[in-house]
Amino acid sequence: MTIAENVAIVRENMARAALAAGRDPREILLLAASKMNDADRVRQAIRAGVDCCGENRVQELLEKQAQGAYEGAPLHFIGHLQKNKVKQLLGRVSLIHGADSRELLETVSRLAAARGLTQDLLLEVNIAGEASKSGFSPEEIPEALAFAAELPALRVRGLMAIPPICASPEENRPFFLRMQKLFIDNGEKKYDNIRMDFLSMGMSGDYTEAIACGANLIRVGSGIFGPRHY
Ligand SMILES: *Cc1c(COP(=O)(O)O)cnc(C)c1O
Repeated sequence: MTIAENVAIVRENMARAALAAGRDPREILLLAASKMNDADRVRQAIRAGVDCCGENRVQELLEKQAQGAYEGAPLHFIGHLQKNKVKQLLGRVSLIHGADSRELLETVSRLAAARGLTQDLLLEVNIAGEASKSGFSPEEIPEALAFAAELPALRVRGLMAIPPICASPEENRPFFLRMQKLFIDNGEKKYDNIRMDFLSMGMSGDYTEAIACGANLIRVGSGIFGPRHY
């Protein structure tokens, strides 16, 4: 399978899942999670029509960006962002998916302000309460939004989650439904710099399930590029 063929298949599955849920397929964005794929393969995915690309590591992003890998598509950061890497990342990505602590929010806003930028980001929710994962608990989200609302140089654009790796996608349905409820419950506009536009969830193994539960930004890696070889 070529990358273009894989993208076409993912698009078909997305459309089918959206229509089955009574949704317009055009409201769902396909992000190519391009970690460990070189600039040429990323370009193939962009040519095949993915909506955006996402990288997990700042160093890899910088290298591939210098090679022109992402030209023609918006670039997002989807990995765990360390505070000491924020400076290198700012100005390079249109969306940071995994803002997972108050300290990180504060750091992003402070450094963005110093650069005269406003950074868009999503709050990461540790939806299954896993010790191994970072993110806000569902209960902390209203407070995290209130905290973010006080920070001048960032805009919260929604929520993201990485549910556990499960044997079957159906097992993640309760987590996706909980995210959907959190997204809706916190979507009422209360703050100038917070807009619940994006619900980022669903990966290669479970994106149709995520779409059934309201995801409008799915992150697909191996389903586009094939298996990763670590
Ligand atoms: C790698 C990655 C993905 C894509 O994973 P696949 O299972 O290969 O689709 C999605 N989201 C995040 C945060 C990732 O790190």
